[in-house]
Parts: sequence; structure tokens; C-alpha cells
Amino acid sequence: MALRIGVIGTGMIGTDHIRRITQVLSGAEIAAVTDANLDLAKQVAQDLPDTEVFGDGHDLIGSGQVDAVLVTSWGPTHEEFVLAAIASGKPVFCEKPLATTAEACRRIIAAEVSAGCRFVQVGFMRRYDAAYRQLKAVIDSGVIGAPLMYYSAHRNPDVPSTYTSEMAVVDTAVHDFDVARWLLGEELGAIRVLPAKQNSLGGGLKDPLLMVVETESGVLVNVETSVNIRYGYDIRGEVVGESGAVALADRNQVDLRHAGLRSGGVPADWRERFAVAFDTEFQEWIDTIASGSEPVGPSSWDGYAATVVCDAGVRSLATSERVPIVLGDKPALYRN
Ligand code: NAP
Repeated sequence: MALRIGVIGTGMIGTDHIRRITQVLSGAEIAAVTDANLDLAKQVAQDLPDTEVFGDGHDLIGSGQVDAVLVTSWGPTHEEFVLAAIASGKPVFCEKPLATTAEACRRIIAAEVSAGCRFVQVGFMRRYDAAYRQLKAVIDSGVIGAPLMYYSAHRNPDVPSTYTSEMAVVDTAVHDFDVARWLLGEELGAIRVLPAKQNSLGGGLKDPLLMVVETESGVLVNVETSVNIRYGYDIRGEVVGESGAVALADRNQVDLRHAGLRSGGVPADWRERFAVAFDTEFQEWIDTIASGSEPVGPSSWDGYAATVVCDAGVRSLATSERVPIVLGDKPALYRN
């Protein structure tokens, strides 16, 4: 039987995940939807077979027609829905952020620890990207020796007028922080955020930013965010080890040679760059949950760690000073 998913939040990414679950992936169906804008939820349900519209996320979570919950509502609402799903004993996939404060993330961790098992997976899709997976396989194989430095560039052509300088840390670099923790297999210990000379195309934003992050063992992670760079959505990453280096390659389908130049494409946005990663992320989650297992992807601890790093990054953005990242003890539930 297909896994019956209830979706809370049918905005931009909620509808994109509904599309992939119903049109690209296998093993799941959309049993229920809700949104603060009920008309929007009804409109989304119209195009789906047998999808019930609920007036509220809590009613959806409590429904006997829902086996698993997908939270794609606005960030500040995530905590209440994730906690309600855990209380109902239902697996929950929560788009990032897990919650917007470290205290809220700790409450989610406490609920899972008290239940004695994992219910939550957080939407850090880079871990499902084929190129990042190969990068990690090379690091783990030991061929470049112990990692010493990691360069991570996150470049957007432009951002909406509602985007703030803090969002470069919290909404953009958060993916670089998570993937750095995952690639290097250790926690981040301190962060310093340095604004570069301001991009005049950025409407007053502190852009670009260079974030110098230290891992607990002393690996230096340099995260660049450039969110008005115009030429495309470009994700770059290179790990320098003791005896070698490994980088994400450019991913062109074709190699154009013309008028004395050789060129290839750059993705237009994050949807294009990570479309397959999102598909893989959801197919693996569906297969795991449908088999009755606990989720194995990014955990509540990973969501908590990302929020704590972002908090420290926002504090450093205000002063450019080095801010320590303090996570506290990791519960045994998340140690493997
Ligand atoms: P969005 O387009 O604004 O959609 C969010 C939807 O949730 C809106 O329709 C909103 O309704 C609704 N909503 C708000 N509060 C609700 C509540 N209490 N109950 C039910 N629905 C509620 O935002 P989005 O861009 O899809 O982002 C949603 C989440 O996904 C965010 O946390 C974002 O950070 C994350 N995201 C992750 C990635 C990634 O790369 N992994 C990419 C994009 C987004 P109203 O508009 O009426 O308030």
C-alpha cells in the first residue's frame, strides 16, 4: 500500500514536493493537504485524486488517513507541527529550518529522546546530490588524506527585495553549514562573518559575505555567499587534504566551443541545480518510512546544529567578531 502523506503548507516548495511525489516518485500518495490560505490548499487538492483538505495542520496530523507528515509551511510554524507529529507517533519530514530557535529545536530533540526513537527528517537535500555524495566518498576513502580546509561557494543570480543580509546566513549559507558538517564528519566550533566590498547590484545588502568557520578539530571552512552575482546559480566546493584535493566538478551537458571560447551552462536557480537531489531525498525517505524503519536522513540533531551555527553567524554578522558555536551533549539517539 502506498504511504499516505499529509502536507502542511502548499506554497512554493510544498507544491513542488507534491508534484515530485505524485508525478516522479513511487510508493506514496498525497492523502491530505492544508494551508493557512485554505483556498490555495483546495486548489492544490483539486488536481489530486482522493486528497482531503483539512482546516488546520493539527487535524491533518490526527487523521487516520495520514501515515506520515510533510511540513512545508513557514519556518516559525515548524516546531508545533513537528512536535504534534511526534506526539501522534507519525514520521515527519520537515523542510529546513527544523525550527527557528535553538530552544525550539531542543524541545523537538527532547520529545524524540523521550519517545526513544527518531521520527524526524530535516530537508537538507545537498546530502542527496550525486556530486556531493561522490565528494564525501572520496574524503572517506582517505585518498586525499585528512581534510584541512573546505571552500564552499553559494552564488545566486539575484534575490527578492524582501531578502535581508541575515538571510544570507540563515536561508542561504545554512545549506553550506549542513553539508560541511556532513562531509567532514564533525561539528563546527566557531564562526566569523566578514562582509566583502559591497556588490553595488545588491540594493544595500551586505553582499558578498565570507564566513570563516572552524570545525572542532581545526579544519577551516570558508563559505562565500554572493546573492547578486547575475551570471547564474553556482554551487562550488573543494576539500583540501594533507595529500590531495577534491572538488565538485562543473556539470555541463554539453561543451560549447565558439568564437575562440569554450563554455558550458550554469544552472538558473536552486530548483534546477538540486532537482534530482530533491527526488532522491524523497524517494529514499518514502522507501525507509514505508518499510517501517526510522528515518535515516538529516536528523533533529542536524537541524538543531544548523540553527545554532546560523544564530552564531547572525551575531558575527553584526560585529565581524569570532563567535563560538556551543551545541552541548549529543544524545545517544543521534550518535550513529
Ligand atoms: P511559501 O511559498 O511562503 O509557502 C509556505 C506556505 O505555508 C504558505 O502558503 C503559507 O500560507 C503556509 N502557512 C504558513 N503558516 C501556516 C500554518 N500555520 N499552517 C499551514 N500553512 C501555513 O514558502 P516556501 O518557499 O514554500 O518555503 C516553505 C519552507 O520550505 C520554509 O521553511 C523554507 O525555508 C523551506 N524551503 C527549503 C528549501 C530547500 O532548499 N530545502 C527551498 C525553499 C524553501 P500564507 O502565505 O498564507 O502565510
